[in-house]
Amino acid sequence: MTSGTLFGPKGKQVKALEGAFADWQGAAHAIAASSGTAAIHTALNALALEPGDEVITTSVTDIGALTPILYEGAIPVFADVDARTGNLTAESVAQKLSDRTKAAIVTHLLGNPADTPSIAEAAPGVPILEDCAQSFGATLAGPKVGTTGAVSCFSLQQGKHITAGEGGLIATDDAVLAKRMKLYVNKAWDYDQPSDHDFLALNYRMTELQAAVARAQLVGLDDHIDVRQTNAQLLGSLIDEVDGVEPIPVIDGATSSYWRYGVLVDPDVIPGGNEALAAKLRSVEVPAASRYIKKPAFQTNLFQNQTTFGNSRWPFTLARPEALDYSPDLYPGTFSFLDHVVVLPWNERLDAGHIQRIGEAIRDGVAQLVKEAA
Ligand SMILES: *Cc1c(COP(=O)(O)O)cnc(C)c1O
Repeated sequence: MTSGTLFGPKGKQVKALEGAFADWQGAAHAIAASSGTAAIHTALNALALEPGDEVITTSVTDIGALTPILYEGAIPVFADVDARTGNLTAESVAQKLSDRTKAAIVTHLLGNPADTPSIAEAAPGVPILEDCAQSFGATLAGPKVGTTGAVSCFSLQQGKHITAGEGGLIATDDAVLAKRMKLYVNKAWDYDQPSDHDFLALNYRMTELQAAVARAQLVGLDDHIDVRQTNAQLLGSLIDEVDGVEPIPVIDGATSSYWRYGVLVDPDVIPGGNEALAAKLRSVEVPAASRYIKKPAFQTNLFQNQTTFGNSRWPFTLARPEALDYSPDLYPGTFSFLDHVVVLPWNERLDAGHIQRIGEAIRDGVAQLVKEAA
């Protein structure tokens, strides 16, 4: 406030955040944006898609990871997810490859790393955008998630690991992509040197205020992730003996940064499955949501009715029919994951006492459901 400017290109805070975040993430470049959705749109634009190109991605995600694909005139092609993690796999991505595939967006759901290196191997030459909105600081056998793909995107929306109310961050090692993305968030205007508006672009700038708030939180982020992980281990041990409830598995050698804590509920063991257990937890004031999202993205009105620009249905009109085949039998993992998962809110202010209470609520809830059905 005292600096007299809240406008990023003329101020110091956005630049300082970009520098600090690049260091924290271990990337050569970081670019701030106005939201996670804006970050993903900006990164996709830099991948220079042509109208009708295909972007392989997941339908178990935030819609803000999907709408930018359509705004770029490209076609989201949904690959199935693993039934136990909700993440894309190398096999599911490979099944959706076509000669029109020009990018893939890999989401690390709930903070739990997807196997990006295997996915990259299964899709040679396809640039990968890692959606790390839920996975700040998660690691895959060493490096942080977001360092395998060409570019990675983060969100600073209220519910994420760190927040400025709204905001987004993009990280990349690629100087050419970085330059293009910096221009894209600035209406294709280069504030550092005389320039022209060379291409179609938006104002996706972050303000100085947002950047200052975000950078202050970056300082505590590693400690906060530690607390989330310690709490996750504790809850895992408390429910280890509970039949029919299993924490979402993490790939060997990887670490989740636990944006949320997910458990899978076996309805053959626990009558009523995930819906019933989530209701039991809520009845004792332990917040819990069955399913992460109500339905896969391809079942939303946007994809079912192709409601885009006027009545044009563009860019769906450019798509191969197979790319728009949303038959449920093509998505067994997707439906299974949503039908089994219970998602518990998670944050660094939870202490061991809270976790004990959550553990007891799960044990008691399961016992009651089994007894009620007997
Ligand atoms: C939150 C989120 C986004 C979108 O971020 P916004 O800041 O809300 O625009 C994208 N992808 C995933 C996986 C998210 O969780």
